[in-house]
Amino acid sequence: MTENPGSGLDRRAILRGAAIASGAVALGAFGATNASAQPVDATDVARIAQPELYWRGAWNARPPSGPIQVLAAPPRYIVVHHTATANSTNYTLDHALALSKSIQNYHMDSNGWIDTGQQLTISRGGHLMEGRDRTPESIAARQHVVGAHVANNNNTCIGIENEGTYTSASPTQALTNTLVQTLAWLCGAYGLNPQSAILGHRDFNATACPGDVLYSMLPDLRNRVAQTMLAHDIPIAAARHEPDENGPTYPAVPDNEPEREFYHGPTRGEDDFSR
Ligand SMILES: [Zn+2]
Repeated sequence: MTENPGSGLDRRAILRGAAIASGAVALGAFGATNASAQPVDATDVARIAQPELYWRGAWNARPPSGPIQVLAAPPRYIVVHHTATANSTNYTLDHALALSKSIQNYHMDSNGWIDTGQQLTISRGGHLMEGRDRTPESIAARQHVVGAHVANNNNTCIGIENEGTYTSASPTQALTNTLVQTLAWLCGAYGLNPQSAILGHRDFNATACPGDVLYSMLPDLRNRVAQTMLAHDIPIAAARHEPDENGPTYPAVPDNEPEREFYHGPTRGEDDFSR
């Protein structure tokens, strides 16, 4: 189940190629229709629908301090978070890359984790960044990089951290649009139904994350994701109805949750082996 990171040279080469490819198709991905009548397999879906993604080299990520866990089974849920940082009005790419760097430093140096905890990060300018190492290639392979973002559920949940604090403010249009594209990409690549797979951090752990405002947007986001997938001929999987022992438990939101930068609820529990 555990794989070691590839050599630095191989990985850089792979990611440079992936970044160029994703950049090349990013504008066309959601602007073109899929004219093929053939069924689209998951790998094609991932390639077609991936939004422009800034890989770890772009934000000068540190290498993980330990082996990254990659599970063969795809995740069952996509968890939406906020970063509990300021609602910055700096929408530049430079700011977005600096955000990814500061989150990684906090997760590694203050939390003692092997790497940044979430798999993906979106800035208020709408820039999408790779989080934990090996994430894009694992999505393309329908595998799951185990992160540290949702206590006791990290083996089954992939996490997106959205820059800002959304307890009373709304996310920017740019962030929301990129979030929809990213969720559509993940639902297509992993064969997940948006209505049952897209959840908030508070659906699993006692936390206000992703904030009342962003949490209340989830039904609309699920519909927008489904519409986006349909518009681009991305097959939508059947909704998950069977009981799932690893499914959401909808705990109460604590009224005395600590308020500090980067803290948005429990991220690791006794059932989690990753850090
Ligand atoms: Zn969270």
